[in-house]
Amino acid sequence: MTGLEVVLALAVAGLAYALARQLREFARLRRWAARSRLPDAPEARGAWGEVFNLLERHRRSAAGERRRLARLIVRTRRAAQALPYGVTTLDPALRVEWCNAAARAHLGIDPERDRGEPIANFVRQPEFIEYLQRRNPSELLRLRAAGAEARTLSVQLVAFDENAWLLLSHDVTGEERLEAMRRDFVANVSHELRTPLTVLTGFLETIGERKLEPQRVRDYLNLMRPQAERMARLIEDLLALSTLEHAPPPPEARVAVRALLERVRAEAEALSGGRHRIALEISGDADLAGAESELASAFANLVTNAVRYTPEGGEIRIAWRAARAGAEFSVEDTGIGIEPEHIPRLTERFYRVDHGRSRESGGTGLGLAIVKHALARHEAALAIESTPGRGSVFRARFPAARLLPATQKVSG
Ligand code: ADP
Repeated sequence: MTGLEVVLALAVAGLAYALARQLREFARLRRWAARSRLPDAPEARGAWGEVFNLLERHRRSAAGERRRLARLIVRTRRAAQALPYGVTTLDPALRVEWCNAAARAHLGIDPERDRGEPIANFVRQPEFIEYLQRRNPSELLRLRAAGAEARTLSVQLVAFDENAWLLLSHDVTGEERLEAMRRDFVANVSHELRTPLTVLTGFLETIGERKLEPQRVRDYLNLMRPQAERMARLIEDLLALSTLEHAPPPPEARVAVRALLERVRAEAEALSGGRHRIALEISGDADLAGAESELASAFANLVTNAVRYTPEGGEIRIAWRAARAGAEFSVEDTGIGIEPEHIPRLTERFYRVDHGRSRESGGTGLGLAIVKHALARHEAALAIESTPGRGSVFRARFPAARLLPATQKVSG
């Protein structure tokens, strides 16, 4: 072999080797790129190394972007799940695509099982089907949801994204109940005021039309006074109730319980006019922290009721028992008692067992509602036990946190 041939042979071998290396790197690149999930780019030197490094940079930033988008999707779904509104996404033909947990509870849709089902299959009321046909996004529809519990839903169909739809649902059962309570309340107040007002108007007409003896006029005026007083009492109780409902929490001032209960007992004695025996027992020396006027009103209402619903000769025991774990105020009477079915409703406004008897004895039907609110503002709950024909016990239990060591010691 000549020298030239040797040089050529070496050059060919060198080229072949370089080509083989390039092909090998190329094959590695193909194998790497062919993977469904790209691992780190292969290591290499020289120009291939630069190419692999660039590809690795792109791969990393694409993977980072994908992770960010995946996190965004998860967050968006979680936000939609957390909404207190039901959200159901529907395709252009109003078939279910996806729904959140609230929509599932409202409409009974299972987001996995029911995908592709027409939404009309879940709410069968004709007014809902007509509502869907109208496709009017500014219209809201109230629906009574079928099921064991009587619930009311407010639903709205909203267009989004080129002919796709969102069905929003909202449980308005509580709001509806409040509206009904407000309506009942206004009707009750009007009725309560109208009765004495009718009597007053009647007397005024009689006095105005005829020429009456001065004594007859005085008699009529005397009959009118209790009606006016009844209206005033009603308005006072309504204002008291409204204040209790809207006022900020009561101040934590010391309320000297013994002195307060002695006043309440004296008022009860005056109301009873000697027709009942009234006892006051105090054990444990604790005062209360709170608003004196509210506690006085709660205690006085309970004691006044005991006098009003206990026939002559009966007995009323007012007690305050304080211990480390808490304190209890109680009023026990030997009165007419209450049938068990009425007990849970006694603290509702205007609820009375016997309307005639309540009115005769000057009741407004708001006393126990005031008691309940005033006690609740002092973390106390009202417990009622009663036996018809034998008597009742009304108890208010205060937690230890509401008690202060009494300044006036117990003296027997
Ligand atoms: P009222 O002004 O009618 O007394 P309340 O809210 O104070 O209104 O009481 C509601 C109802 O509870 C009363 O109408 C009465 O039927 C019943 N009630 C309250 N206290 C007693 C009691 N000590 N004994 C028997 N019934 C009572």
